[in-house]
Amino acid sequence: MYDCIVIGCGFAGSTAARRLAERGKRVLILEKRDHIGGNCYDERDAYGILIHRYGPHIFHTNSKKVYEFLSRFTEWTEYRHEVEAKIGESYVPVPFNFHTLRLLYGDRAERLERKLTAEYGEGSRVPILELQNNPDPEIAQIAAYVYDNIFLQYTMKQWGQRPEEIDRSVTARVPVVLSEDDRYFQDVYQGMPKDGFTALFRRMLAHENITVCLSADAKTRIRFQDTEILFDGEAYSGTVIATAPVDELFDFRFGMLPYRTLNFVTEHFSKDSYQPKAVINYTVSEAFTRITEYKKLTGQQAAGTTIMKEYPAPYTGARGQIPYYAVSNPESRALYARYRQLAKQYPKLHLLGRLAEYQYYNMDAIVEKALCLAESL
Ligand code: FAD
Ligand code: UDP
Repeated sequence: MYDCIVIGCGFAGSTAARRLAERGKRVLILEKRDHIGGNCYDERDAYGILIHRYGPHIFHTNSKKVYEFLSRFTEWTEYRHEVEAKIGESYVPVPFNFHTLRLLYGDRAERLERKLTAEYGEGSRVPILELQNNPDPEIAQIAAYVYDNIFLQYTMKQWGQRPEEIDRSVTARVPVVLSEDDRYFQDVYQGMPKDGFTALFRRMLAHENITVCLSADAKTRIRFQDTEILFDGEAYSGTVIATAPVDELFDFRFGMLPYRTLNFVTEHFSKDSYQPKAVINYTVSEAFTRITEYKKLTGQQAAGTTIMKEYPAPYTGARGQIPYYAVSNPESRALYARYRQLAKQYPKLHLLGRLAEYQYYNMDAIVEKALCLAESL
């Protein structure tokens, strides 16, 4: 009775389901967790503070299409995401920019700004691994500072590897910015959903053609056999959109894909404010990478404040662990390609999302891809 089965109820699954439902398709979503929203799920903690259970999520995009689609399900709270790194007792703006330069170099900063601008162009965004190649001794000194104080230890914590050992696109997400722009993201559209992400999802999924089944591990209901997909033991001829990890979907037939996981630790304080910004990165000390103070992210007015620390770790597949970040390297990409090839045996199976596509996507990229896929179907 369903034209399409969607595995996973995060942004990938929910967006695709909504678009298909609006085109008259009957869609069943199977979601392993006991809630909608995937990793963007938010909820109130014991103190009434809205927190993101799976780490801080800030919406940002340059895509008008994505912004307009999501705006059908939420209003937005204006929010400008600024991050600082705690280095010793000082807080410095991240991404490293001209403000950071002035804090560190004082009177020399203006001349260095001119030098950097002449070299790379006004407003440029230069990845640290590129800046390091500059032969100019003064620029090399800045690069060394940024590498040592912003990237090295944070990346070691996050990935268990040095910046130059991981895919270059990862550190390029946070380039050195040759301007006074303190924002973490430079996209045209930015904000936080006014009533939170879960409310946005609830509205997106409220459609007569969508049925959501929670606490439903797709693996107990869907089997991939030869060239046939079985649903509850019977051949299923409809479309299947899978947003779950592809290695798990195929019973780790070729082995496990590497991921990084996170352990989140929340603490509540009765004081009004914990730190100067919503997110502080710990780039030279501590075992955690960053602390998020939620009410500064959401704009919620509340007595007391809740913070969350993120402790990265290798993903082992242990019960309860969640794979958050694909570890992209030549070997993992080759292994993923084998799973992708296997998936092609099932012409009606589509892999979508951060896990099924094994890609470091932001949520807007996922929404865009889900809309495109649903429209092509
Ligand atoms: P998910 O949200 O992971 O959804 C996949 C769903 O599939 C999950 O609900 C899972 O339970 C379900 N599933 C898995 N296996 C099965 C199964 N066997 N059966 C049924 N269901 C299953 N992006 C931004 O744009 N801005 C940010 O600020 C931002 N911050 C982030 C912070 C952190 C800590 C992390 C990890 C990511 C962040 N992202 C951010 C990225 C964002 O989370 C993802 O782009 C987005 O959530 C991906 O959506 P998805 O649907 O592909 O995956
Ligand atoms: N990074 C870093 N120091 C920082 C911020 C980021 O070393 O202060 C590196 C780190 O390797 C991280 C990557 O840049 O994994 C991407 O950072 P981003 O903030 O985009 O990570 P996410 O929010 O997706 O976890």
